[in-house]
Amino acid sequence: MDFSMKRRTLLKVIVLGDSGVGKTSLMNQKFNQQYKPTIGADFMTKELQIDDKLVTLQIWDTAGQERFQSLGSAFYRGADCCILVYDVNVARTFDTLHNWHEEFLKQADPTDPDTFPFVLLGNKVDIDGGHSRMISENRAREWCASKGNIPYFETSAKENYNIEEAFLCAAENSLANE
Ligand code: GDP
Ligand code: MG
Repeated sequence: MDFSMKRRTLLKVIVLGDSGVGKTSLMNQKFNQQYKPTIGADFMTKELQIDDKLVTLQIWDTAGQERFQSLGSAFYRGADCCILVYDVNVARTFDTLHNWHEEFLKQADPTDPDTFPFVLLGNKVDIDGGHSRMISENRAREWCASKGNIPYFETSAKENYNIEEAFLCAAENSLANE
């Protein structure tokens, strides 16, 4: 590890949601990518300054195995934040959020599940100018409220819309939970 890392806070953020919702695209925007073949996951790092703190987000993405197998404990271990993603145009990807939320809590087993920082992203809001969306913003916000007020962002990986804001929120909430 780089010596300068000692002065930084390192946060592990994992990104979960159905295959095809845009998890990898959301992360590919402007991150450094390092492939970790042994655990079948990618992680990317992003540096942020929050107040006087230098924060390194280590953002973990699946290598596609969310489609057919469980992700394994290395993926979940030590997570500081969990970003859940669905596609606003595909209702099924919203319906499965509950399972991803449960699976995270079961696998990562955080000390206090009630205060653990989650963030929800409703992605692909660019498609068809919003005319093909199946899940309204209100419905998504109700779900977030029912899970203890999870912050919600509508995003587009294609148009790079609201992604910075979402990751900043993830970082701030992780710091606040330390
Ligand atoms: P993952 O399986 O969750 O990692 O999803 P991917 O990032 O591989 O994206 C699946 C498909 O959706 C790809 O064809 C992407 O180009 C497309 N995609 C991802 N995000 C967006 C978005 O915000 N808008 C649009 N229109 N397409 C997107
Ligand atoms: Mg992917």
